[in-house]
Amino acid sequence: MLVSEHDYQRTLEYSFSALGMLKRAKIPPYPHFYELCYTYASGINEQLNERLNMLLGKENTLSMENVLQVYREFFDNPSDLESQLTNVSQEMSSKIDAVNRAMDEAIDTAEVYSGSLEGAATKLDSQLDAPTLKRLAAKLHAETKRMQEANQNLEEKLKASKNDISSLKRDLDTARRETMLDALTKIPNRKSFDQRIKQEFELYAKSGKGFSLLMMDIDHFKAFNDNYGHQTGDQVLRLVAMTVKSNIKGRDHAARYGGEEFAAILPDTDLKGARVIAEKIRKAVHAKELLKRSTNQKLGRITVSIGAASIHRDESLHELIERADECLYAAKRAGRNRVVCETDEEFRNSKVA
Ligand code: GH3
Ligand code: MG
Ligand code: MG
Repeated sequence: MLVSEHDYQRTLEYSFSALGMLKRAKIPPYPHFYELCYTYASGINEQLNERLNMLLGKENTLSMENVLQVYREFFDNPSDLESQLTNVSQEMSSKIDAVNRAMDEAIDTAEVYSGSLEGAATKLDSQLDAPTLKRLAAKLHAETKRMQEANQNLEEKLKASKNDISSLKRDLDTARRETMLDALTKIPNRKSFDQRIKQEFELYAKSGKGFSLLMMDIDHFKAFNDNYGHQTGDQVLRLVAMTVKSNIKGRDHAARYGGEEFAAILPDTDLKGARVIAEKIRKAVHAKELLKRSTNQKLGRITVSIGAASIHRDESLHELIERADECLYAAKRAGRNRVVCETDEEFRNSKVA
């Protein structure tokens, strides 16, 4: 492989930058951590950079946990799905090749048959004796039989391929759907959220149909993990995901936004409606008393903080998401386990501060 001097220097810089990041955070440069930081340094994955920038914060450093979490989000599942998609597309193209080959064969046979018919027609123009006529008829009969067989063969192959292709299409649809789901909680992932909110925003620009956005974050979740372990933490994430999902309906769209953060897009819902749904979610999470089934250990309760905002005329999607996020952080500052809407004092005060 040829690498230009420029490319060489650039990749070397990414590499140093990735190692520097790991060194600052005192994280061992295991291949997957290195891959994550290298990707960050190269800037090719905008979402990944946004996510890490959020976590880097003022100290400009990361924790091992943060790195592991982002790695899981961006690298762990896609590779599996990518290979699934590659398999399906390879199979699809081999089926298509087989159909093409069967068609070529049928075309060849049809050409031979039409040649034979033409030859026979020319011969029939001249005077023919009975034995020659008989031979000609026998030849035409044989050619017709061959043609029939070739057609039948093609029909069978096409039928089989049609079934194969339908089942491959189903596989492909399933794999495609999975790329939109979060592997841990099985609710839509960040990619799905990004797509849906963009669609909602476009609809709003076209038809003026407003919508609201909830941003949710589990309170003191780091401490929960520290106390009860990551696996139990994962169970809690599943539980919160299900709680969010079961408190929305219709065209509402809940997603795991990242780590221990969830989002819900609420089409056709004003801020008042959004607050009602947010409160329902907050209360439903708080109402659950956590119990570790294997040991019957009581784990207490967890709470979520929620920020709610509605789309404004002439603002960008980015501004809406940022406002909902700021509301969420205002809810954290105000003591957690609460909902803060963009019209609430807590949010307005945080803008002044
Ligand atoms: P706050 O109330 O301010 O939100 O505090 P916090 O501890 O929830 O926030 P912080 O951002 O400090 O920590 C988030 C924690 O979420 C860190 C990490 O342990 C946990 N977390 C993120 N993703 C996962 C995951 O996939 N599984 C588990 N078990 N924990 C996760
Ligand atoms: Mg968080
Ligand atoms: Mg949190």
